[in-house]
Amino acid sequence: MSRAIVFNGDETWEMRELPVPDPKPGGAIMRVEATGLCHSDIDHFRGHVHTSYGGAFPSIAGHEIVGRIEKITAEAREEWGVEEGDRVAVRDIVIMPDGYRIYGHDFSVDEGSGLHGGFAEHLELLPGSMVYRLREDAPADELTVFEPLSCAVTWVEPISPGDTVVIEGPGHMGMATIVAARAAGASKIIVTGTTKDQFRLDCARKIGADDTIDVETEDPVARVAEITGGAMADVVLDAAAGNPITVNLAMHLVRKGGHVVIAGMKDKPLDGFHSDWIPTRRITIHPGAGLDTKGAVDLINQGKVPTSALLGESFPLEQFEQAFSLLTRQTPGRDTVRVALRLA
Ligand SMILES: [Zn+2]
Repeated sequence: MSRAIVFNGDETWEMRELPVPDPKPGGAIMRVEATGLCHSDIDHFRGHVHTSYGGAFPSIAGHEIVGRIEKITAEAREEWGVEEGDRVAVRDIVIMPDGYRIYGHDFSVDEGSGLHGGFAEHLELLPGSMVYRLREDAPADELTVFEPLSCAVTWVEPISPGDTVVIEGPGHMGMATIVAARAAGASKIIVTGTTKDQFRLDCARKIGADDTIDVETEDPVARVAEITGGAMADVVLDAAAGNPITVNLAMHLVRKGGHVVIAGMKDKPLDGFHSDWIPTRRITIHPGAGLDTKGAVDLINQGKVPTSALLGESFPLEQFEQAFSLLTRQTPGRDTVRVALRLA
């Protein structure tokens, strides 16, 4: 049997035990070691899923999944190039006959084995999955950072070696973006946040940011001008979620002819945006939208990712409530850059 956290879609959850099946032809069974938590899990908890499939309930959430192949079919072994016992990162997308779906969002617990999310001790990998071998010499909870990093490695594509980069938003995506930006050749990295983000801004410096700015106590435009000798940023990456105001700020932090990447979800429209900024200052806007799991796993396996600094805090399955409280920033006096669940 496999213990699982099941979200009902109405801000309630329950622990269930589900039988572990044999793999389907072309599939495998994975023993989950750890799964990272992210903002989309909070939305899922509240009944909102942003995938194109649209989600399914009740369901096992969790899509930042690291584990070991426990049982694999000959077809999957051939296709994925992994063996029983291998530690792998799971790409969240699975190609199905009727389109694609996302583990941890788009499978009801009542469909098939139900084991298609990361907040469970086992994951049934369906044919059409993609998995990538991960290093053995780091704890699994640290390695779950492969998933936010998979996005971040695509967001940094406009960066050229030697660039000065501003990253708005010191959440777990912002932290992964620091690492990706450095790997892409950024020579100076500045991270912005609010006064409530003090702990996270301190972490950003440990992870590799050269400077941090609290936009509530300092003028971010003046500070970036000072740090860059008036040149401003070559690339601004907006990784802040929940408030569109950072988009306008990005337009003021970037240099003429520079690049702005819009990534963090704002959940509402933006006031005060002046589109003349784009032609008069020749700003190129890019979507922060890609996913490159292999690129992220390669960086981790090459030792270019400070996985322990990026981990934040991790909890065993029994402490899901505490993990979720910290994720939603509802634990008084305590903050973290990231939360992961340990399942083995
Ligand atoms: Zn995620």
